[in-house]
Amino acid sequence: MSTEAVAAAVRESSATRVPLRISGRSNWLTAGRPVRASKNLSLRDDTGVVSYVPGDLTLTVRAGTTLAEIERVTREHDQWLPLDPFGSSDGTIGATIATASAGPLASSFGLPRDLLLGVEFVNGRGEVVRGGGKVVKNVAGFDLSRLVTGSWGTLGVITEVTLRLYARPKVDRSFVIRLAGSERESKTFLRAFLAASFSPYALELLSASAALALGLGEQAVCLMRFGGNLAAVDAQLTAVSQTARVEEVETPVWEALRILERGSGCVIRVSGLPEEFRSASGSILTDPQSGVLNYIDPARGILRLVVRAMDESEEPGESQFGISTNTPPDERVVYETLPAEVWPEVSPSVVSDRLSQGVKKAYDPHNILNPGILGD
Ligand SMILES: Cc1cc2nc3c(=O)[nH]c(=O)nc-3n(C[C@H](O)[C@H](O)[C@H](O)COP(=O)(O)OP(=O)(O)OC[C@H]3O[C@@H](n4cnc5c(N)ncnc54)[C@H](O)[C@@H]3O)c2cc1C
Repeated sequence: MSTEAVAAAVRESSATRVPLRISGRSNWLTAGRPVRASKNLSLRDDTGVVSYVPGDLTLTVRAGTTLAEIERVTREHDQWLPLDPFGSSDGTIGATIATASAGPLASSFGLPRDLLLGVEFVNGRGEVVRGGGKVVKNVAGFDLSRLVTGSWGTLGVITEVTLRLYARPKVDRSFVIRLAGSERESKTFLRAFLAASFSPYALELLSASAALALGLGEQAVCLMRFGGNLAAVDAQLTAVSQTARVEEVETPVWEALRILERGSGCVIRVSGLPEEFRSASGSILTDPQSGVLNYIDPARGILRLVVRAMDESEEPGESQFGISTNTPPDERVVYETLPAEVWPEVSPSVVSDRLSQGVKKAYDPHNILNPGILGD
């Protein structure tokens, strides 16, 4: 599907006021609020490399290109796109940018908006819009790339993106530290450990249930990934080994972590200051909540709560997290996946403010692009 074909489809929907449900490879259409659209516009077949300049560490691809395909193409040039959103590498880059999906590597390589140099998208009028550029030093003016990143397809259908790549690390190793002690011991250890100046590529604190689901044993763990040249990784390893017993694990454990929440009906992200997580992690991780997986990215200050199985007997409003529908919305809490009927109760909309309404009207005057996904 070409950009022109996408533009024609959107123009037709705009003229007939028939809303569109945009999709990539449909792995994550359960995320976000229910969309009031029956007509599907899929970018699944709009794939491929448009231009790749290894010397500039830049890659331009069509929106339907999967993260796995980008991994394959860049590996040939000893480069990579350090973007590992939860979900899987079967997802498309267009969806990953549209949902601003990020994973454990974000703590050291940045969010999708930091890896996005340029974007081409079709707005709700069927006009082709380009933002940013094909080189690191971007053009001036409004940074439309950042506006469309995380807009969940409500401002435009992404058709092409230009990405910033990195040199692939010579060494890429992963390790765990078992948080075996009592809550007090874990708290004391984590407060000191997380304040230390290690710079892992990724570090996730996993609750005992999450560690068990990954085959990492029955205790909460600190999972770390170190990358770079041999000397750099060895230096970090020596420093970490002085604070605790470290065990090496296979790097594919990160892929397993990314797909752990597949099929979960309820995923919630809670953000806070890294300092808050340094002190709270001990109690969060040692708090045995059955059927719930907790993982913490202490560097970014993010706690992910993944409900593996909702207890049917439970009232939808009263979750085991004690989230009550009477609690006023808290901007630190982002609901990623929820049962459709719960959304209006706990988070009706995140775009009801006048500014968001103004931006939406400018880019999609007839509200035909993924209507309802961010609320009304
Ligand atoms: C089980 C699972 C769990 C996930 N969990 C997380 C998570 O916790 N956090 C996270 O950040 N990401 C998560 N993801 C998202 C994910 O990794 C990426 O967003 C992903 O790449 C989805 O790819 P897809 O092509 O299958 O998307 P789809 O499921 O097809 O689309 C996902 C969303 O993006 C929109 N979209 C798709 N293509 C475009 C486009 N070209 N232009 C505009 N909008 C578009 C769709 O309308 C839809 O709302 C999860 C994915 C899965 C499968």
